Formats: sequence, structure tokens, C-alpha cells
Amino acid sequence: MKPAKFDYVAPTTVDGAVEALRAANGEGKVLAGGQSLLPLLNFRMARPAVLVDLNGIKELSFIELRGDRVAIGALTRHREIEQSPLIASKLPVMAAAMRHVAHLAIRNRGTIGGSLSHADPAAELPMLSLFYGAELSVHGPSGRRAIAAEDFFVDALTNCLEPEEIVVEIEFPILQHNGCAFEEAARRFGDFALASIAVSVRRSEARIDDARVAVMGVADTPLRLREVERELGAIEVNDQTPDRFAELVTASVSANGDLHASAEYRQHLLGQLARRAMQTALSEVIR
Ligand SMILES: Cc1cc2nc3c(=O)[nH]c(=O)nc-3n(C[C@H](O)[C@H](O)[C@H](O)COP(=O)(O)OP(=O)(O)OC[C@H]3O[C@@H](n4cnc5c(N)ncnc54)[C@H](O)[C@@H]3O)c2cc1C
Repeated sequence: MKPAKFDYVAPTTVDGAVEALRAANGEGKVLAGGQSLLPLLNFRMARPAVLVDLNGIKELSFIELRGDRVAIGALTRHREIEQSPLIASKLPVMAAAMRHVAHLAIRNRGTIGGSLSHADPAAELPMLSLFYGAELSVHGPSGRRAIAAEDFFVDALTNCLEPEEIVVEIEFPILQHNGCAFEEAARRFGDFALASIAVSVRRSEARIDDARVAVMGVADTPLRLREVERELGAIEVNDQTPDRFAELVTASVSANGDLHASAEYRQHLLGQLARRAMQTALSEVIR
């Protein structure tokens, strides 16, 4: 199929893009990498009157260190994140996850702003934004505002943006941890995840002093498992810790079922991935 008729504008500034959305009166849609939006247009599941192409706004594409955070511009491609030495050294879980994002051709075009805004419950970057406690900077007619990643994802494929707002950049706090892992299961490598987990720990001797845990593919939004993070602080680290962690994770999540996998299978998968992730996180501890 072909898209319904639309007008096309290609602003070169963020203000210009917001103005174009405002002028479209609720009928505008932003185009970034187009990897999710173009299929929706072709199937006529989205019928915007105006397409506002962000690709000419050069200031939206960057990865930079800002003190104890890494800032990423909304138009930064998945492939740039995957290949960035800064991401590899400061956000290692993100570095490990990026090769699971779709296929190379899609990673060459898809952007972080597009992935977060599309809010697919089985997409890696939305989950990573929760995992790191990221903050999104969005620009609209009344200027900029910050949104915590935990407030951004409202439901499957639904975010909390106003129609005239654009995600411009995302700041990821750097975790001061010494062990981490990312595990994912998909039917074919590069497909959307059936289930996935990200783990990061700061371990000293037989204790976990601080932990981060997030999962995706199992609910309508990605989930940060704060209760599991807290409980990890109360258990002793030994050979049983990965099994105990898997129990904590599966007890705190009630997986969804769909045509790709039953709820029972996803729940089982999540336990297996959790065990494997904790084994890796504890075995790769940097002292
Ligand atoms: C076959 C296939 C497999 C895929 N597999 C995976 C996968 O395994 N994991 C994964 O994470 N993703 C996967 N994707 C999705 C891919 O990562 C997309 O790139 C991503 O979801 C959307 O990014 P985009 O830049 O292409 O956004 P677009 O398609 O251009 O836009 C997507 C949506 O976000 C809005 N939008 C875009 N940028 C902004 C912004 N800056 N501010 C506000 N709104 C904005 C658009 O208006 C649109 O509604 C897959 C896609 C395909 C086609």
C-alpha cells in the first residue's frame, strides 16, 4: 500500500519543527529514521496531514559526556550508539544491548528519539532509559521541559508527549557499578525480544551494595524492578545468588502472553535470562 496524501516540511531548527507541528493543528507527525513510522503510513494506520522531517536538524545528532552523565541527541542513529567508544566505556549495558536492536539496515537509520517515542514494549532503548534512570528533554511551543523516563512510557506504543512536542535529547546517568549483563531471547536474532533483562551491580565482598534491574517484552511497558533491586541488598552473594535472583524477578513480574509466546513461556524465559544475567554480572566483577 501507499501512504495517504500528506504535506512534507523539512525544518533545519528545533523551533522550526515545533512551529510546523503547531501549524499542523494536531494533524502533524514527526519523521526521524522512518523505520517504524513508514510502515504505519504505508498501511494507513497513521494518516498525518503534515510530515515534519527532523533529519535536517544537525544539532540533534550527538553523543557527549556531561560530568556524570552521557547525553545523546534524539536524532542519533542506533548504529552510532552501538559503535561509540564513549557508550562502551560509560554505559556498558547499552553497548551490549544495541546489537540486539533489529537488523543492521534498520540500525543505520533508526534513531534513539524515534525508538523512545514509538514506545514499543519490546524495544531495547525504552527499557535502557528506565534502567539508567534517564531524563528526556522535550521541546514544545512553551519551551523545554524534562521528563523522567519512568513517566514517559504510558502504555504499549504510547508516550506522554503533547502533540506539538519533540524529544531533543536524553541524558543517561553513569552507574558506578562493577558488574553488569544484558540478556535477550528472540525468535531470530534482531527480532523484537520475547523477553529481556538488564542487570548492573556494585559488589563488595559478599554483598551487593547497589543494583539496577529492568525487564522488557513481558508487559505493556518496560519495567524497572525496584523491589528486586532492594531485595538484592539483603542477600549474601554466593553460588545460589543467580537462582535466588531468578526467583525474585519471576515473583515480581506477571508476563503477558500474545501470538509470539504464551504468558507461561515468557515467565519461564525471564527466569532463565535472569539467572544467566546475574551469573555474568557477578563473574565479570571489576575490582
Ligand atoms: C523489521 C523491524 C525490526 C525491528 N526490530 C527492533 C528491535 O528488535 N528492537 C528495537 O528497539 N526496535 C526495533 N525496530 C524499530 C527500530 O528500532 C526503529 O528505528 C525505531 O522504533 C523508531 O525509530 P525511528 O527513528 O525509525 O523513528 P520513526 O519511525 O521515524 O518514528 C517513530 C515514531 O516516533 C515519533 N518520533 C520520532 N522521533 C521523534 C522525536 N524526536 N520526538 C518525538 N517523536 C518522535 C514519530 O512521529 C513516530 O510516531 C524494528 C523495526 C523494524 C522495521
